[in-house]
Amino acid sequence: MSKSKESGKAGAGGHKIETRLAHLGGNPFDSHGFVNPPLYRGSTILYPSMEAFSAHSQEYTYGRRGTPTIRALENAVTELEGGAHTVLTSSGLSACGISLLSVVSAGGHVLVTDAVYQPARKICEGILKRLGVEITYFDPLIADGIAELIQDNTQLVYTESPGSQTFEIQDLPAIARAARARDVPVLADNTWATPIYCNPLALGADLVVNAGTKYFSGHSDANLGSITATKALAKQLRQTHGDLGQCPGPEDTQLCLRGLRTISLRLERHWRSALEMADWLAGRPEVARVIHPAREDHPQHDLWKRDFRGASGLFSIILKDCSHKAVAAMLDGLTLFGMGASWGGYESLVIPFDPTPYRTATQWKGEGPALRFHIGLENTEDLKADLDAGFKRLRAIG
Ligand SMILES: *Cc1c(COP(=O)(O)O)cnc(C)c1O
Repeated sequence: MSKSKESGKAGAGGHKIETRLAHLGGNPFDSHGFVNPPLYRGSTILYPSMEAFSAHSQEYTYGRRGTPTIRALENAVTELEGGAHTVLTSSGLSACGISLLSVVSAGGHVLVTDAVYQPARKICEGILKRLGVEITYFDPLIADGIAELIQDNTQLVYTESPGSQTFEIQDLPAIARAARARDVPVLADNTWATPIYCNPLALGADLVVNAGTKYFSGHSDANLGSITATKALAKQLRQTHGDLGQCPGPEDTQLCLRGLRTISLRLERHWRSALEMADWLAGRPEVARVIHPAREDHPQHDLWKRDFRGASGLFSIILKDCSHKAVAAMLDGLTLFGMGASWGGYESLVIPFDPTPYRTATQWKGEGPALRFHIGLENTEDLKADLDAGFKRLRAIG
C-alpha cells in the first residue's frame, strides 16, 4: 500500500477510526446491554396518553419516521461523515433523488458531473426536467472552471469522485470554493471511497450521498442509501425525506450497521487486492490502459493522494481493440468473476461498459472495449488464473 496517512479524523474521545467503528451507533445499555441494537420492526408506535399523542412528545412516533435500529445507523454515518444529520433511504439511487429534490425548485438550475452514476442522470433528465429544472452537465475535470457555469438560478453542484465507470477524480475543494462564493451548495456521491477513505464535507461539500448497498453492507445482501447534510441543509433534507415517506427496510438497516463494524478491514483488503490486480492487468499484452486512481499513471493521481486516504475495489480497464465475440468468450468462461450490476460485496465482478451513448459535456475515447472490475476478498492468485484463462479465450478469437 502506498499510503499510510492516519485514517479519519479523531472522533468522540479522540479515538481512531477502527476504534470508533467498533463502538459508534447505538448504546448497548439502551437495550439491556446487548452489544447490537435489536432489529425493530413496526408501523404503529403507542403513546402512553392522549396528551402525549397530541403533542407527539416522544422520540419515536411512527415506524416510517425512524426506529432505534435506524437511529443507530443514522448516528453512525453522521459521525463517520462529520455531518450534522443523516437520513436513510431505501436505496442509494433514492438517496440521489431525495437529495436533489431537497434543494431544487421550478425555474432552478443544477450542474451535474458528466461522469455521474447513470441512473442519477436519468432522475435529472426525467423528473427534474419535468418539474422545470434546467440541467447542465460539466467536465468532471473542470475544477474552479465551474465558476463560469454557475448561474443566478443555480441551486446545486452535483459531484461524484471518482466518476462512475471512468474514475476521474474531481477537484472537490476547488469546485466547493467556487460554489460557496455564489452561495450554491455542493453534493458529493461518496459511494466509491466511503467515509472511511474520504470525507467530502471536510473538502467543502454540503451534502454527501452513500449507497449503503455497496461497502456499508459489504455482502451484496441489502439495499440502502444515506444522505448526510451540514447543519445549514439538515432541515430541508429532513423535511423532503419525511414528506416523501422514505424509510429503509429493517433488515437492510441492521445489515449495513453490522457491515460498518468490519468496513475498514474489508476495504483495506479490497484496496490492496484491487491495486495488485490493476498492476497485473496493466502488464497484460491484451490491455491498452488501466484506470485506477491509486496508480501513478492515473491522470488525477495527485488529487487522489491529496483528498483520499485509500482506494476501494472498483476500477476499469480498456482492452486493446478486439471483437465483441472475443470479449464475450473471455467473460462468459470466467468462474470466479460474476457479471452483474452493483458491487461492494465480498465477491469479484466484471462488466463491460460503454460511456459514449450518454456523455454530453465530454467525449469518451477508448482504445477498445472497456471492462469494469470489482475485486472481492478472494485470493488474488486465483483471480489472476481465472483472468489468464479468460485472456487466452479472448486471444483465440481476437
Ligand atoms: C450503486 C450506486 C448508487 C445507487 O445505489 P443503489 O443502492 O444501487 O440504488 C449511487 N451512486 C453510486 C456512485 C453508485 O455506485
